[in-house]
Amino acid sequence: MAPERFFLELDPPSEAMREWPHVVIVGGGFAGLKVCHALARKPVRVTLIDKRNFNLFQPLLYQVASGLVSEADVASPLRQMVGQAPNIQILLGEVVDIDPAAKEVVFNDHRYGYDHLILASGSGSTYFGHEEWRPLAPPMKILEHADEIRRRLLMALEEAEQTRDPERRRFLQSVVVVGAGPAGCELAGSLIELMHRAIRRDFKQLDHHLCRVVLVDAVERVLPTMHPKLSAAAAGHLERAGVTLVMRSMVKGIAPGRVALDGPEGHRELQAATICWTAGVRASRLGALLAERTGAPVDRGGRLLVEPDFSIPGHPEIRAVGDLCAYLHTADGRPLPGMAGPAVQMGAWVAASILNQNGSLAPFRFTDLGSMAVIGPFYAVADLRGLHVSGLAGWVLWALAHLAFIPDTENRITLFTKWMWQIATRQRTALLITGRPDQHLGVDVGLYRAQLHPPEPAAAPAGEVEPADNDLPLAA
Ligand SMILES: Cc1cc2nc3c(=O)[nH]c(=O)nc-3n(C[C@H](O)[C@H](O)[C@H](O)COP(=O)(O)OP(=O)(O)OC[C@H]3O[C@@H](n4cnc5c(N)ncnc54)[C@H](O)[C@@H]3O)c2cc1C
Repeated sequence: MAPERFFLELDPPSEAMREWPHVVIVGGGFAGLKVCHALARKPVRVTLIDKRNFNLFQPLLYQVASGLVSEADVASPLRQMVGQAPNIQILLGEVVDIDPAAKEVVFNDHRYGYDHLILASGSGSTYFGHEEWRPLAPPMKILEHADEIRRRLLMALEEAEQTRDPERRRFLQSVVVVGAGPAGCELAGSLIELMHRAIRRDFKQLDHHLCRVVLVDAVERVLPTMHPKLSAAAAGHLERAGVTLVMRSMVKGIAPGRVALDGPEGHRELQAATICWTAGVRASRLGALLAERTGAPVDRGGRLLVEPDFSIPGHPEIRAVGDLCAYLHTADGRPLPGMAGPAVQMGAWVAASILNQNGSLAPFRFTDLGSMAVIGPFYAVADLRGLHVSGLAGWVLWALAHLAFIPDTENRITLFTKWMWQIATRQRTALLITGRPDQHLGVDVGLYRAQLHPPEPAAAPAGEVEPADNDLPLAA
């Protein structure tokens, strides 16, 4: 494979750029985008490579899944975000290999050289060795997953509207959400609100008393990383809204419309037309790849164990940030959580360290701003470094924090408007059924055409974890 020359070397907008170090960033999520912003218009050449052409605000994916907002409200084109800086080039493609000896990454069948490589490829979902569950219980990591959850739920409700069989209707109106972390609680809370209130007027035959959302997890309490007081508040609100909590129950099997559980009451089975999975996170496969190429250590979740400056052992020119890394250089030695806040702060520090090669930069210190989860309209819980807030005050804090974090002004305004509209009217404007494969047949749908009949995924041996990919399409 012939090495490609970087575009700026071929046609540099200015002579000076020829001498500037070339920083390649893989992944334009929270961490990668922050690096770009910090390096924009600085004396470095930057190439941002991402397999999607947009930055995704994952914390609001549940709102796409439940028809509260649309795809474009939570995603922003990368070119629009950072492409206008003269020293930043954005390239669409999936990095599939890294050659640390040659200092090159491989994507789109080309090799590109780098002086600094920043890996910010995030994380994906894992089914703990049960990849066969993926098509039956979609995860919620990318836009297509959220679309798929919404499509399945709405298709089930449309069928329920037309069925006379009460048992079948009960099944069609049932949802199981696996995973009681923030994403699972937010999804469950939003779906019950959708089924009990938002669509009550729109579906004439549905009996909203039969609508059921069951939230399942093996842990003791919902939101296990938050203070027990907030977990109890969130659990109480979810139950009052109509969500059934099934804690201390391990998923043993998933079949179409069925989830088998082992819990305190022994073995039981839940039946639901829509099953969603928010339970497992695993680092992007670039972590394992780099470990293979360099011997860099990874933890059980596939995250690269990085040095205090986010480099990997023996390669100061390669850094890993965000969900892809396990940063253990903390006061208590515990890794920083896989959240947006740490990812952004890591990105900012690494960019500063590249610009300060000869200067002195204070060691990385994470400022913990706390965590939040929105459980229903006007109700959120917030764990702010010892300050525990729930209810309306929590919701206001949650809304302000998310609006502040959204990287795009247009989206900020749109989201605020849609939230206010939804609160005032209880209506959801994005309840669209899209992405039906049968509607695509015979139509040239480009890349997706090949995915309509993907090869059967090989089942992983029990106990072995499949490599995660945050873009893995559903094979349903
Ligand atoms: C449903 C959900 C809800 C969440 N809620 C919250 C919340 O409320 N608060 C919070 O703080 N955090 C939340 N998180 C976690 C937060 O979104 C992540 O911690 C954060 O996105 C990590 O940022 P990152 O930059 O490491 O990776 P990401 O933001 O995931 O970005 C990774 C980027 O890399 C690209 N990429 C991956 N592999 C390749 C490749 N091989 N080649 C090229 N490009 C590649 C991807 O396309 C993507 O753009 C949530 C996550 C999810 C899924």
